[in-house]
Amino acid sequence: MADRASTSAGRKKPVSREKRKPAAKKPAGPALHYHVSMPDPASHTFQVEITLSGVGDSCTLAFPAWTPGSYKIREFGKNVSSFKARGAKFEMYDKQRYHLTRIKDGKAAVSFDYYADELSVRTPHLDDTHGFFLGTNLLPYLEDINAMPAPAEFTVSVKPYKGWKVATSLPAVKGKPNTWRTDNYDVLGDTPFEIGTHEVHSFTARGVKHDVAFYGYGNFDAKRIVADTKKIVETQAKNFGGLPYKYYLFIHHISPDSGGGLEHLNSCVCGWPSWNFKTEDDYQKFIRLVSHEFFHVWNVKRIRPKILGPFDYRTEQHTKALWIMEGMTQYYERLWVARAGVCKPEEVLKAYAETIDREDNRPGRKVMSLEQSSWLAWTKLYLADENFLNTGVSYYSRGAQVGLLLDAKIRNATDGKRSLDDVMRLAFKRYGWPKPGFPEGGWFELVEEVAGQKFTRFWNDHVSGTKELNYDEFLDCYGLEFKRDKQGSEPWLGFTTGSKGGLKIASVHAEGPARKAGLQPRDEILALNGHKVHAKTFDDRVSELAPGSICTLTVFRREQLKEGRLHVGRQPAGKLTLGPREHQSPTQRRNYRKWLGITKP
Ligand SMILES: [Zn+2]
Repeated sequence: MADRASTSAGRKKPVSREKRKPAAKKPAGPALHYHVSMPDPASHTFQVEITLSGVGDSCTLAFPAWTPGSYKIREFGKNVSSFKARGAKFEMYDKQRYHLTRIKDGKAAVSFDYYADELSVRTPHLDDTHGFFLGTNLLPYLEDINAMPAPAEFTVSVKPYKGWKVATSLPAVKGKPNTWRTDNYDVLGDTPFEIGTHEVHSFTARGVKHDVAFYGYGNFDAKRIVADTKKIVETQAKNFGGLPYKYYLFIHHISPDSGGGLEHLNSCVCGWPSWNFKTEDDYQKFIRLVSHEFFHVWNVKRIRPKILGPFDYRTEQHTKALWIMEGMTQYYERLWVARAGVCKPEEVLKAYAETIDREDNRPGRKVMSLEQSSWLAWTKLYLADENFLNTGVSYYSRGAQVGLLLDAKIRNATDGKRSLDDVMRLAFKRYGWPKPGFPEGGWFELVEEVAGQKFTRFWNDHVSGTKELNYDEFLDCYGLEFKRDKQGSEPWLGFTTGSKGGLKIASVHAEGPARKAGLQPRDEILALNGHKVHAKTFDDRVSELAPGSICTLTVFRREQLKEGRLHVGRQPAGKLTLGPREHQSPTQRRNYRKWLGITKP
């Protein structure tokens, strides 16, 4: 609609002599300023002060019970002590909520100590080497903020320990050192802060600055990591036609016990053991982790089911779609590395073959579907016990297997013209944050829209159901074949071991010889066929057993001596491999090259 004054066909409207009333003053929105300091890092204690304004005469500050991307109740409020309020009275509503009353002029302040001694990508840590936290760890949110006048404002100031600096992905406030601002708690909660003497490298991709911060020490080559990361960023950006942020930060925690990764809107944190960069195989695993976390820029941080943003931090949030968020990301982490030219195509095929070999021998695949695995993430995968092998699947690995089949299925349905890449692009276009997330089941519709046909049976069999996966269509699409790198079979006892507190049975395969012989998780293994065994040589001893023979295993079970007679089973020898067939049809060759991004003849 055009402006009325300009459409009055030349007739000027009489100017009203009535004095205009001054516009009613808009009430100011709530503002929270968080101030974080660390005067004594060795005490593992952050000091946090929060000044509040525009919050009315009462309000409630709440600590999240969990952090997005890590589906486990962690109760971040448990680390708080010495909570005090100024300009208000407070009482605790429950384990995570502080209710403030008698606030004058909407202004109050609180302070507390926060104990931080868990070094991981998802939990707060402070010691004499560095400080690290996520917004959800340390910075409480204001309950019922949506009922308050908008817009809200959140600023964070960090006073680093002497000689330390801060790396974070939040936009900085100009003229105020070490101060950042956002108007959205979900953005603040999602943000990591790395404080210390970390080494920072930078690169530009698509005109956007990217920093790579390394905390810790180890046998890594920072220049190689940064150069390969840039290639991976550019490859993924090409798929989506650009980068959906103005700045991106990679934080790498390199220390002896580090591992895992956590994605954020404009940053990620990757943990890796200090000395696990030596072999090419180790390096490839690390760079795949980087590729994985970076792909989450789209898949899960922007493309996500409705329930995963805006977030409810109070309790578990259930969705059947985690296999899309994590399984597809695991499927793609490998492809991006190959398409970026950071690894050879064979490396990708090797990684898929390893997943297939392991997951297709897991008894739990017949018990739990991908949707169940997603829905129950909080109490199954994140709290997996020794029996999870028999009753569950990981939506990461199983999801990646289904991604592999689905991508081939779309290519076959469209004569190679479309693929899962098109689905991801369409999902981003239609549901990408800050747009609302997709409804449960909404992603299936996108796949069918791209493929131009219904995949109802596939969903029922392999996503809602537990039917065995069939690789024929996948192998035919790209002209691939499975092989074993050794012929024949090997002895198999049907349990895994751990060496914590002696050589012990870790988990027992539901269909294996150990289960039939009555052996149990936590049994301490003492002897095989009457001879003492050692953790280091136990696998060698087992490899000498003849399939079909009988062996005895002597164990302690809660201090009682027990003996099991096992019928030694057999399993296929060597590793499953995946490679191109000797004779690929022109169509298969085209699909194979396009899939892995091979451009050289
Ligand atoms: Zn992930």
